[in-house]
Order: sequence, then C-alpha cells, then structure tokens
Amino acid sequence: MAIRNIREIGERVLTKVSKEVKAVDKKILTLIEDMLDTMYEANGVGLAAPQVGILKRIVVIDVSEEGNDPIILINPEILETDGEQTGDEGCLSVPGKVGTVTRPNYVKVKAYNKDMEEFIIEGTELLARALCHEIDHLNGVLYVDKTIGELRDSFITEEVD
Ligand code: ZN
Repeated sequence: MAIRNIREIGERVLTKVSKEVKAVDKKILTLIEDMLDTMYEANGVGLAAPQVGILKRIVVIDVSEEGNDPIILINPEILETDGEQTGDEGCLSVPGKVGTVTRPNYVKVKAYNKDMEEFIIEGTELLARALCHEIDHLNGVLYVDKTIGELRDSFITEEVD
C-alpha cells in the first residue's frame, strides 16, 4: 500500500501510448493496489497507470457514492459506444481545472481482471465518461485536447479522474 506521485500536464509520460499487460505478476498487483490508494487519497473517480508514470494499460475506476466499489481494468478496449453527453470533466493530472467535454453516453468495454480473465463492462453517464477518459490516458490523450471552450478553475474535488 502506497500513495504514488501523480504526474501532471506537461510531463511527457502523459502523452505516450501505454503498452499491453502480458501477465499479472507481483509488481503489477502492487501497482494496482497503489493506484487504488492514490485515487482514493486524491478523491478521484479514476486513475490510469501513466498518471503515476507507468506506461502500462491499466485503469482503476470507482464511481460509487461510498468509494468502495473499485473496477480494475487491464488492457481495456472500447467495443461499442452510443449516444452522447456533454458535461464537466476534470483530471487528477490537471489539478484545479474543469472543462466541458462531449463523450458517449454509453460504452461497452472489454478488459481483463487481475487473474487475466476477460470480462465485459457496460457503463452509462459518469461511468461511461470515466471509462472514455481513462482509456484516453492509455493512448496519451488528455481531456484538455477535447474540451469545448476554455478550462475553468474548479474547487470541486469529487468528480475528477
Ligand atoms: Zn485524467
């Protein structure tokens, strides 16, 4: 259990494409635990491995009210999207800012769990937004590249990922 340093916009690691995970070893399990600790500590609803400086295709998300229902996605891939939603989005790597982004309102994602078993997750609204945002991180894309209009200052820390 450890809190890792969150990389911020301007650092090159955030613009790189992450590599697929071939096998889950002890190091990966520790990384996942640390990502969860780091996300909860920062009051985020999601975190991608490149945000802690590791270029591997791993994402953690928790959109539950209580913050006790983590979703761990290894090598996630969007299979389907539907509809759209336009709303504010933030990012732990872009502290203190929010911007308006249009995302699909529904996504269907294929990923692997910690046992490298394939699973499908479907999400709407905030979960769909978080899935798209975090998978973008794995491709070196930040939400600031997709915002409609300017970034604004935010004092809300709950809905950042
Ligand atoms: Zn982010």
